[in-house]
Amino acid sequence: MSSSGTEGDPNRRSLTVVGSRFDLDEAAIAALLADEPRYRVRQLRRGLLEGREPSDLTDLPKALRGRLAEAPGLQPGLHLVHESVSDDGETVKWLWELDPPGRERVETVLMHYPERTTVCVSSQAGCAMGCTFCATGQLGFERHLTAGEIVEQVVRARATAAASGRRLGNVVFMGMGEPLANLDRVWTAVHVLHDDLGISARHLTISTVGVVPGIQRLAAADLPVNLAVSLHAATDEVRNELVPLGRRYPLAVLVEACARYVEATGRRLSLEWALIAGTNDTPRQADALAGIARTLRAHVNLIPLNPTPGFPTTGSSPAAVRAFCDRLVHLGVNATVRRNRGTDIDAACGQLRASMAGSPVRLERR
Ligand code: SAH
Ligand code: SF4
Repeated sequence: MSSSGTEGDPNRRSLTVVGSRFDLDEAAIAALLADEPRYRVRQLRRGLLEGREPSDLTDLPKALRGRLAEAPGLQPGLHLVHESVSDDGETVKWLWELDPPGRERVETVLMHYPERTTVCVSSQAGCAMGCTFCATGQLGFERHLTAGEIVEQVVRARATAAASGRRLGNVVFMGMGEPLANLDRVWTAVHVLHDDLGISARHLTISTVGVVPGIQRLAAADLPVNLAVSLHAATDEVRNELVPLGRRYPLAVLVEACARYVEATGRRLSLEWALIAGTNDTPRQADALAGIARTLRAHVNLIPLNPTPGFPTTGSSPAAVRAFCDRLVHLGVNATVRRNRGTDIDAACGQLRASMAGSPVRLERR
């Protein structure tokens, strides 16, 4: 697969690199259990997907548990560097080191809302897209996550949620990385979440900065997941300043691909918009955005920009956010201001990693 990862069949499963125990398919697990009855394969796989360690799977014979606990292919792919919990306890953020340790780091965020629990997962270490306001974009691309590393983030978040009596029901691909630049592996993970963890397609959301070939592949894929498009600007001039990929796929081309996605899947689209003072919070941008949102019948999510070190511009003031949202609503657009979850624990894309560069394991409760 090329590093852009946008070619090929959207339904193709890719398991080329083993990064986590969840990259083992049934055949590989069966090979580990060669001398055991066939039903052990399902037992082991189910136990792992419930977030249990091989040594804790008491429905397996003790000697087998001991052997599995040592098996190289069954080791976790994520090593905890840091865990932080927001003041209100409703947001938990993990910084993980990928395998082998000492190199790439990625983040996962678990968010409890009164009516649902959602996990935000990373799809790549770093990101090649270089959006100017984004801490992950400033890192550059490091590597794709394997499907198993993506699944492992969900499994671990789900186990944490279950321990406090919450059921994890939603997964959003809005952590580090561009999911549509790693679509083969993302799609393999989507299938595990859907087929094995029972999370329905309408509770899975892929966020993209606008990788048009990826949107086209998704429109033809076998599960109608939700699509969030990080638009951030409604004129090419402003968008190209914020999102370099805009030069490859101008707004007209992106909006056309979005329209086809909605048509093909029947799913509602959302447009993400990080409000940046004096850049994309102007009445002109609101009016142009309203035109696009109405065409696509899309919901607009507004979020004040989280400050990113190295990006001089700041988020819009609460009054400017309100005025921008009101203008959209007045123009007939379905728009909401998203709460800035976990600002006190750097829970915006790539920010915990940026603030924790080189630090040892630390557990923190704030
Ligand atoms: N690459 C994908 C998904 C990961 S980024 C994408 O761009 O959509 C997830 C979301 O966080 C995107 O909407 C992105 O624009 C937003 N984001 C990145 N940096 C941000 C910041 N400093 N403040 C607010 N939102 C930010
Ligand atoms: Fe990559 Fe998304 Fe950040 Fe842009 S906003 S650099 S696409 S992670």
